[in-house]
Amino acid sequence: MKVCFDTFGCRLNRAEALALEAGFLARGWTTTDSHADANLIVVRGCSVTARAQHDCEKLIAHLREKYPMKRLIVTGCLKDRHNEILLRDVKPATATRTARAYLKVQDGCNGTCAFCIVPQFRGKSAAVDFDEVLGSARRFLDAGYREIVVTGCNLSQYLSQGRRLPDLLAALAELDGGTGFRIRLGSLEPSPVAPETVRAVAAHANICRYLHIPVQSGSNRILGAMRRPYTTREVTALVREAENLMPGLGLGCDVLTGFPDESDYDFLATQSLLTRLKFNRFHVFPFSERPGTVAAQLPSAVPREIRHARAREIAAQGETARTRFINGFKGKTVAIVVEDEKRLAGWTSEYVWCEVGEERARAYTHAHARGRTIRRRDLVEIRVREMNGHVLVGDPV
Ligand code: SF4
Repeated sequence: MKVCFDTFGCRLNRAEALALEAGFLARGWTTTDSHADANLIVVRGCSVTARAQHDCEKLIAHLREKYPMKRLIVTGCLKDRHNEILLRDVKPATATRTARAYLKVQDGCNGTCAFCIVPQFRGKSAAVDFDEVLGSARRFLDAGYREIVVTGCNLSQYLSQGRRLPDLLAALAELDGGTGFRIRLGSLEPSPVAPETVRAVAAHANICRYLHIPVQSGSNRILGAMRRPYTTREVTALVREAENLMPGLGLGCDVLTGFPDESDYDFLATQSLLTRLKFNRFHVFPFSERPGTVAAQLPSAVPREIRHARAREIAAQGETARTRFINGFKGKTVAIVVEDEKRLAGWTSEYVWCEVGEERARAYTHAHARGRTIRRRDLVEIRVREMNGHVLVGDPV
């Protein structure tokens, strides 16, 4: 029997899809990328934005029309609209096809952000048991993974056996003496536990030098209306501390443009904050009313063209910031976890794509045939020679 997965959305959805996939494999199923060949199709949906939901529903409608006799399961964040599989009890699995391991440590969120539908799908925060997380991580390392991506719905709310996110990260990073692998932290909400988390990252050289902070807005008025539990002052202090402790850090952010009542002044405040804090990877979304959220009912909607125009401006700002950041890598040595063996390509610790290229990779493998063969999932050091757009190009050290 064959199963085909279509996964939308965030790393958490991906982690759950991989765990589900492993469950099928353990029961004797095989996976396929072809809908036509599959006996069962599983869609891991996302409805965090109107666009994401539209894309999922388009695929579902297409599958229903083209394969009316096939079994289709829709799961993930599309609850109530389609059938659903509950994933809280799905255990992380090592037999996945990815180069990096996705370790789900938490689900749900206790937040009340006005624009967000996620708590309605995933419920209150629930943590995977501390020891169980460490056991899963150990199995990933034993299976040959060299990067473990820690995922969750709101990682800042992790709490198990009195241990919080910084304790968890430290314990993970110190497994096996802390050598030969690395840990990558998913999104970090500005929250009371965030500064200590940043210090835990800085204290461990094998935790990736990349932080993704969902800032959303640079205007305290709008952050309040969004019901985000922090101010720009706290974000500023957090990022400044991270930069001081880890110079050259990869710094990502989520930004929402055109939230109800967002003025030009509020928007300028966002642009200014992102520039001041030297974010170098931007995820920007124009606001969209998600039915069932507080924000969908708010007055003073910003016209759609303005929401989109502001998103484009932020994206352009992000391009410039990213280019500047990437140009700073020339001549430096970075470490990648190999995703593509042929090209010797993968993500650096700072979350920049880096590759050797097919020809040079072949020459290198040939020259080192008697030595170590580089395989997918290996951690490899590359000296950066040049940039190709936002891709680093270099040679193995
Ligand atoms: S912190 Fe806010 S935006 Fe994030 S999942 Fe929770 S409610 Fe949604």
